[in-house]
Amino acid sequence: MVRVPRGRRTSRLAMVGKVGVGAAAPIVIQSMTNTDTEDVFATSMQVAQLARAGSELVRITVNTREAAAAVPKIRDRLAQMNVDVPLIGDFHFNGHKLLTEHPACAEALAKLRINPGNVGKGARRDEQFAQLIEIACRFDKPIRIGVNWGSLDQSLLARIMDENALRAEPKDATEIMREAMVTSALESAARAEELGLAGNRIVLSCKVSGVQDLIAIYRELAGRCDYPLHLGLTEAGMGSKGIVASTAALGVLLQEGIGDTIRVSLTPEPNGDRTREVIVAQEILQTMGLRAFTPLVAACPGCGRTTSTVFQELAQDIQNYVRERMPEWRLARVGVENMTLAVMGCVVNGPGESKHASIGISLPGTGEAPVAPVYVDGERVVTLRGDNIAAEFRQIVDDYVARTYPERASH
Ligand code: SF4
Repeated sequence: MVRVPRGRRTSRLAMVGKVGVGAAAPIVIQSMTNTDTEDVFATSMQVAQLARAGSELVRITVNTREAAAAVPKIRDRLAQMNVDVPLIGDFHFNGHKLLTEHPACAEALAKLRINPGNVGKGARRDEQFAQLIEIACRFDKPIRIGVNWGSLDQSLLARIMDENALRAEPKDATEIMREAMVTSALESAARAEELGLAGNRIVLSCKVSGVQDLIAIYRELAGRCDYPLHLGLTEAGMGSKGIVASTAALGVLLQEGIGDTIRVSLTPEPNGDRTREVIVAQEILQTMGLRAFTPLVAACPGCGRTTSTVFQELAQDIQNYVRERMPEWRLARVGVENMTLAVMGCVVNGPGESKHASIGISLPGTGEAPVAPVYVDGERVVTLRGDNIAAEFRQIVDDYVARTYPERASH
């Protein structure tokens, strides 16, 4: 059951390719490649991987002439692979030049991301910003105005600091940084509209790496505009730290109805799997009950009553199995993403938790009889025993999917 958080902020709807962002559309998952965009093969392959993992929008950096020239080729190669995920071009410093020299790049992209802090310096800033907006209007592309605290517009920051110095009670440095981020996004959006870009072609983001800063900034932003908002904690970090920080920040905001697209910016391990950021984003939305993507396995943490690794192995085996089968199930069966599974370590909470899942298994704890009762839709249906419990449990899952979720008409 997918719920919309109470009081989800109502924003305008911006179309990014065929994907709706904002208003009543589902919260969209976005990711970004880390390949060299000039490498058409590597970038196409990674975009395809991210899309197949569930990324609904994929951003690629466009930083050189060669990268701009590669973008239409990447789009073509993706079409050959039957991947139609919208591509977002990430532009800094020279975006106005690249898009002017390579109109096919602008054509191939579904959205342009520009950073008001990196558009240009001094008088050229306004000129280059206007050029980018003119290109977006000409090619009918939405724009994300993506403010980042690491590249905040320094002239705007200086102006806000000067204004602050004149206040009877000046704000502290943290408040000023937050105010400058929000102001940069809102003033840039207002300028883009003055230049002719429709309000429903604008998405805003203000990324920082501190959880409390991100929450405060987005609350302010959401209260002051109705543009769709892209959420993400920038430089979230590696491993569990990156996941925890992103989840803490995004969880609070999503619960308040703030956020129309999300990205989890994880630093992969060397040669690590880039799709991890997509899976984490899905898990954030799914565990919050906002969207359903793939059946999740509830498992108890284990304790002194589970002295073998059988139970951890089964929980991992089932989660991996469900992930493997999901691409096929999703195409063939209606509603399978709502299935819930439970793998529990002993009789203390095992039967109770198992009864609440679509399918649950309660393994024997230390000293308990070597049997594993299985519950399907709350009823005990079979008791597994012996060395083949994992395979038998997978078969029960397959049978359940086949008889519970109707086949799609087109399949
Ligand atoms: S269900 Fe059993 S094994 Fe799992 S944490 Fe609770 S008491 Fe421990």
